[in-house]
Amino acid sequence: MALIVQKYGGTSVGTTDRIKNVAVRVARWRAQGHQVVVVVSAMSGETNRLIGLAKEIQPNPDPRELDVVASTGEQVTIGLLAMALKAIGVDAVSYTGGQVTVLTDSAFTKARIESIDDKNIRRDLTNGKVVVVAGFQGIDAEGSITTLGRGGSDTSAVAIAAALKADECQIYTDVDGVYTTDPRIVPEARRLRTITFEEMLEMASLGSKVLQIRSVEFAGKYKVKLRVLSSFQDEGEGTLITFEDDKNMEKPIISGIAFNRDEAKFTVTGVPDRPGIAYQILGPVAAANIDVDMIIQNVGHDGMTDFSFTVGRGDFDRAKAILDQVKAQVGAKEISGDKSIAKVSVVGVGMRSHVGIASNMFRTLAEEGINIQMISTSEIKISVVIDEKYLELAVRVLHRAFELDQVEA
Ligand code: ADP
Ligand code: ASP
Ligand code: MG
Repeated sequence: MALIVQKYGGTSVGTTDRIKNVAVRVARWRAQGHQVVVVVSAMSGETNRLIGLAKEIQPNPDPRELDVVASTGEQVTIGLLAMALKAIGVDAVSYTGGQVTVLTDSAFTKARIESIDDKNIRRDLTNGKVVVVAGFQGIDAEGSITTLGRGGSDTSAVAIAAALKADECQIYTDVDGVYTTDPRIVPEARRLRTITFEEMLEMASLGSKVLQIRSVEFAGKYKVKLRVLSSFQDEGEGTLITFEDDKNMEKPIISGIAFNRDEAKFTVTGVPDRPGIAYQILGPVAAANIDVDMIIQNVGHDGMTDFSFTVGRGDFDRAKAILDQVKAQVGAKEISGDKSIAKVSVVGVGMRSHVGIASNMFRTLAEEGINIQMISTSEIKISVVIDEKYLELAVRVLHRAFELDQVEA
């Protein structure tokens, strides 16, 4: 008998029929003698609809109240799934995040889980029940409802699996595993049987939203056995996130290609090339809690230099307002912003021991006439910023150039 945490995403619980199918799947695990905790998302599209309603009232919704609204989608699906389970004779009970308790900090709309009280869940499991928990939500020390950021149900599931020391955390979604890139963009993408934790962390942070990055961080910290699977197939082992660094295992040099359209670029031209300038520009941006991703400072000439960086597209207007103030303070010539950029990254632990990955990447893009605006690298990834209109082409040609369509699934 194992203790399994299963998470079903929005598409998997998108209709009442699909919720009934989830119930049947859960019942099968239960019938095999396993203890099952199920974490569910809201029905697909529901969280967007709720956020849309809030924005009709307040264009920039009050974050606390937004979480009160946005969290309700999951309350619907936990109740429906618990009913669907009972309807087929499986004893079940549903809990909101607050009822569990999933305790978070008070950073509304992007709260972090601080602790999980597993008392209720354990008691119910011992009594033979399936426990159905609302993903994406928690409660802070004041008792306010919080949400964990978009895609946060993955993190709820892994955190609950960690708290319960579950044998496995299974993320059921609308694809049958983690692919070499988003199969919606590249039909030739291949499923990976395994991916290392480090690679998955990079893929998620670079835009592959199949898993929320914090869920991968949790899995790494607490060594949760994490698997991504399809909720629409009965067979299949999905993709296992691995931790052990098996030196004997033949690893592909590149495991995947991630991309992200959610960034925007700013360039500050004609700033004095002197110590402290980066701090003067980025200090106020950081103070406003805006994450900066890539940064480039050009070589100075005639005592002047140019400075470029990227932020999340949702932070564009706030960052622009801050930079307009900074411009006068640092005596910059011009600030320009560009929202039509995209970031494409190749990821693979094999990069550590192979040279020529960057040149292959740059050559491939050059052959398609795609201009590279920014570059950043780490030990296991290379990212470039390009014009958004070339994104799909870039991902496709890179996928081919690194022979990812040949990966054996
Ligand atoms: P859920 O609602 O189940 O949480 P998501 O939409 O959040 O599902 O995540 C699954 C989607 O992630 C897939 O439909 C796919 O389009 C996208 N995706 C992006 N990158 C990848 C990748 N490398 N492998 C698999 N899916 C990916
Ligand atoms: N329902 C939330 C969202 O749409 C959380 C999730 O699906 O993981 O972001
Ligand atoms: Mg998701």
